[in-house]
Amino acid sequence: MPSIFTRIIAGEIPGAFVFQDDAWVALLDIRPVNPGHCLLIPRHEAAYLADLPPAVLASLGGHVARLTRTVKSATGAPAVNVVVNDGPEAGQEVPHCHLHVIPRHAGDGKRLAWPAAPYPPGALEAMAVALRAAW
Ligand code: 5GP
Repeated sequence: MPSIFTRIIAGEIPGAFVFQDDAWVALLDIRPVNPGHCLLIPRHEAAYLADLPPAVLASLGGHVARLTRTVKSATGAPAVNVVVNDGPEAGQEVPHCHLHVIPRHAGDGKRLAWPAAPYPPGALEAMAVALRAAW
């Protein structure tokens, strides 16, 4: 069954588009963290970012950069959060990968507040070894 985003891209469901090209679209999120919150969505339907075709991934960086500039310019926000919830355990609700570009204003109170803690002794080095091996 096509995702909600595929149905918006196909024109079956309304969407407020910012741009569209052969591989990507950007549109407004219907439940914005702040007004101007956009979603950058590949036409190719894959749940995980890393499962996108290489040619689609190749154009991602330029689009993210342009969309951050666009959102800042149109909303007056001095900053943005660029967020990918890559899998349900990370909070992904729509299983069609997408990036959130969220305009942020001083004192807007919308801070991403993840609890974080330092590594126990030796664990940072061990994790770096594991990550280098997996790279
Ligand atoms: P996720 O949690 O999967 O990273 O985020 C999904 C996002 O899609 C949410 O921020 C939600 O508001 C947005 N969303 C869900 N359904 C629709 C829809 O029908 N139209 C639009 N424009 N956004 C949607």
